[in-house]
Amino acid sequence: AVKKIGFIGLGIMGSHMAANLIRAGYDVTGYDVVPASVDRLLQAGGKPAPSIAEAVAGAEVVITMLPDSPQVSEVVLGPGGVLESAAPGVLLVDMSSIAPETSIAVATAGTEKGVRVLDAPVSGGEQGAIKASLSIMVGGSAEDFAAAQPVFEHLGRTIVHVGGHGAGQTVKAANQLMVAGIIALVSEAIVLLEASGVDGERALEVLAGGLAGNRILDLKSESMLARRFEPGFRIDLHHKDMGIALASARAAGVSLPVTGVVAQLVAAARATGHGSDDHSALLTVIEQLSGR
Ligand code: NAD
Repeated sequence: AVKKIGFIGLGIMGSHMAANLIRAGYDVTGYDVVPASVDRLLQAGGKPAPSIAEAVAGAEVVITMLPDSPQVSEVVLGPGGVLESAAPGVLLVDMSSIAPETSIAVATAGTEKGVRVLDAPVSGGEQGAIKASLSIMVGGSAEDFAAAQPVFEHLGRTIVHVGGHGAGQTVKAANQLMVAGIIALVSEAIVLLEASGVDGERALEVLAGGLAGNRILDLKSESMLARRFEPGFRIDLHHKDMGIALASARAAGVSLPVTGVVAQLVAAARATGHGSDDHSALLTVIEQLSGR
């Protein structure tokens, strides 16, 4: 059974996920480029590591939770990276949301070193990470999925093996295009309601109980109505995910017209200075389009 876990990337999501694994009894050694993030791990009962090599030493499972493809490539494939120090047989579980082709490249490089690899991006936001209620979409072999399952159960609630390497990332891209689209539509509803003089809080309460009810309304309507946009999930990261979704659509030879428009709205949020705000700040773009 897995006892020791190396955890690399202790940001908004990784810090809570690592804390849940510590609570579950795993010996967690963590690394992050930001020293304050490593301090948080220490407070949660984990062991801070000064380098990737020391986070990986002796671990049976290594989890990465990093922003984007370049960071995953650097941390796993780069000098001093995971593949340089991981022992053969180690299971590397990348839970970041990145391009499917990067996941495939990481899996191929891992295989050459005898390191097993899964892509296992998540959905559920910071609250899902805190409550260990994430949805986890996993790409890789059935055998490696089974080996990681006991660890996943301390991080999430809906855990599904969706296919081979990279498939988890494609499912995550589908998730992200839906989430951004729903935020855009909730924003349009709010702008219409407020401009028409209808109380937003009451309106969203009744809408949440009907066919338009959704998780964004449940989790974010209060903060959106109050124009509170602290992240959460940053616009910069969602912009990255819309790029992955459109690149995947191109690779698959399909047309996603609504996703194209929503991606440009996310780009506008970023271009108007909301890159570090929560993705619900898409509301500000929709407001600006109406001169509000
Ligand atoms: P974050 O920016 O808060 O965390 C990323 C962490 O990685 C940071 O602490 C950063 O210092 C660290 N890091 C960056 N480069 C590094 C390197 N070379 N070596 C070591 N550490 C490094 O981002 P987050 O919100 O935690 O998201 C992480 C991933 O999970 C992203 O791919 C994101 O798209 C995805 N995700 C986020 C959410 C969310 O709600 N925040 C939900 C689901 C999925």
